[in-house]
Amino acid sequence: MEEKKTRRYIPVIILLAVFGMLTAALIGQNFWFGGRREEVQAVTLLDENVQVQMTDAKENTSGKTECLYLWDSSDANSQILHEQMPQILQDMKIRYEETDISEEEIPKYENFEKVILGFGSYSQVQEEILELADWVASGGNLLLAMVPEYSAASVWLFRQAGVRETGDSYYETPGLRLKDELLLGGSKRDYPIEEPFESSLSVTLESDCRISVTTNDENENPLLWQREHKDGKIVVVNLGIYDKGYRGIYAAAYSLLGEVCAWPVINGAAYYLDDFPAPVPSGEGKYIEEDYGLNIADFYSQIWWNDISALAEKYGIRFTGMVIEEYSDQVEGPFNSITDSQRFMYFGNSLLDLGGEIGYHGYNHMPLCLDGFDYGGEYDTYETWESYEDMKESLEELRSFCESLYPNEKFQVYVPPSNILSEEGRRLLVQEFPEIRAIASLYLGSGPAYEQEYEVGEDGIVETPRVISGYILDDYMRLSAMSELNLHYVSSHFQHPDDVLDADRGASLGWEEMYRRLCEYVDWVENSASGIRYLTGTEMAGAVQRFYYVQPALETEEEGLTLSLSNFQDEAWFLVRFNEWEPDTSEGTVTGGTIEYLQGNLYLIKAEEPQVTIKKRV
Ligand SMILES: [Zn+2]
Repeated sequence: MEEKKTRRYIPVIILLAVFGMLTAALIGQNFWFGGRREEVQAVTLLDENVQVQMTDAKENTSGKTECLYLWDSSDANSQILHEQMPQILQDMKIRYEETDISEEEIPKYENFEKVILGFGSYSQVQEEILELADWVASGGNLLLAMVPEYSAASVWLFRQAGVRETGDSYYETPGLRLKDELLLGGSKRDYPIEEPFESSLSVTLESDCRISVTTNDENENPLLWQREHKDGKIVVVNLGIYDKGYRGIYAAAYSLLGEVCAWPVINGAAYYLDDFPAPVPSGEGKYIEEDYGLNIADFYSQIWWNDISALAEKYGIRFTGMVIEEYSDQVEGPFNSITDSQRFMYFGNSLLDLGGEIGYHGYNHMPLCLDGFDYGGEYDTYETWESYEDMKESLEELRSFCESLYPNEKFQVYVPPSNILSEEGRRLLVQEFPEIRAIASLYLGSGPAYEQEYEVGEDGIVETPRVISGYILDDYMRLSAMSELNLHYVSSHFQHPDDVLDADRGASLGWEEMYRRLCEYVDWVENSASGIRYLTGTEMAGAVQRFYYVQPALETEEEGLTLSLSNFQDEAWFLVRFNEWEPDTSEGTVTGGTIEYLQGNLYLIKAEEPQVTIKKRV
């Protein structure tokens, strides 16, 4: 069933399709089966009664608060960034204070190690901008997160940040080109922006600036750079796009400030199969009939599932399949069990044999919403449920159906049909279906979608959003996926079998091209995020719990650094950027955990104890 309007139709690229066919042929011959990597140890869910005291980020030994984030509620762009920046800092477990400069006095900079300038109009605070540059010169660390408006103060501050010349107009930013190893996702690689606009300033930089990202055109207009300013440092993000799908770029820019930056991450790649197992989907079968001469049901068992299983085998992906029992629009009980369950047995057990997991999607595909729920005009064909009791009965039928088919499984993950879930629906899940421990909806939602952060709800439900979806994998999705690797070290993708039947979701590209794109994405994750763990939906929830609860405090000393963790469970993962020295990665030098080099000055640390020490390389 359709989850979301697909963004854009993309024409067939014949050469690539030929390559895709070759790839599929090789998979068909089990060519890659030898390369399956060792199974990673499963991440378990924490006990439901685990007592965690959520505390503020710890103070540093300097007695200073790590970060001051300045924003301006009277400035529309500053407000847009303000929708993301606090969450970024919260997820990175940065101890920060924020000040709305239109309401409050700016605190003294010397009480902070780092300042984020999150507004673009400097005219009301010219004096404070001069003081800010003085503070940087004497050892402060400044992130210019917003493209400033033209003013004497902004020209002056940009000069301190290494800008020799500024163009007189904004620059249409067609995409990002990664110029060094700051961002995970492939150095010297381009990430086109789907709907470019005049968002950045055209700038010429001094030669002592280190440029990490430029525009992906011949001008290579700098979009992210750093420059030493006397005893301090300035990092500039000259991008002018502040959406949720760009968070990782701001996180990476922030991590360039100071001696070392360590932030907890999820370290997981999850792949969901929505509407699987489910009855044979309906849709336009002409594409597969043309290409394969098969009906829809045979296509799924003979082609689609073979290809998807081969991908799981090759990489060790642990798919999470989301059951739909039937596709009616029935919203009033009683709900009958379907009689032909052979298809469910075959696909479900194959999925489990591959190390996958099965979760609840719905008795049918009607989101758990009662009368009066506003679908925003997007889903005209959707019914609302007659009552709470009817919603409950339908899920009880799904539960007993799943229990009878897969008697040894626990059903702990719920994916809302069409990624829509009302408050009442969510309450129902918690109250009546305690086996559900995680909800996997959308990270980047719009309209009536149930949009999530990676967190644990007050009711204990783990929110495990999916970042991208489908087989088209357009520029927007690729950029968002790159961003999330850099913020949470996470990849979360869902696909539906019936994408293959829907032209809006890529069907006219042909399955071979769709599959080629999926393979390319999976391969990109594998290559961009060394050692990322392939997790089921429940394991992802366990990983999110540990990420969400852990509270790090970082101390740097003469010999190296110590990471002290509150709310530590049994493991925790961190991305750590070493800006001023290199860690000793030789055996036996790290205590309390392990360290792995990723790229540039970025490392992945696994804490196995609540205190980890890392020595400087000498
Ligand atoms: Zn679905």
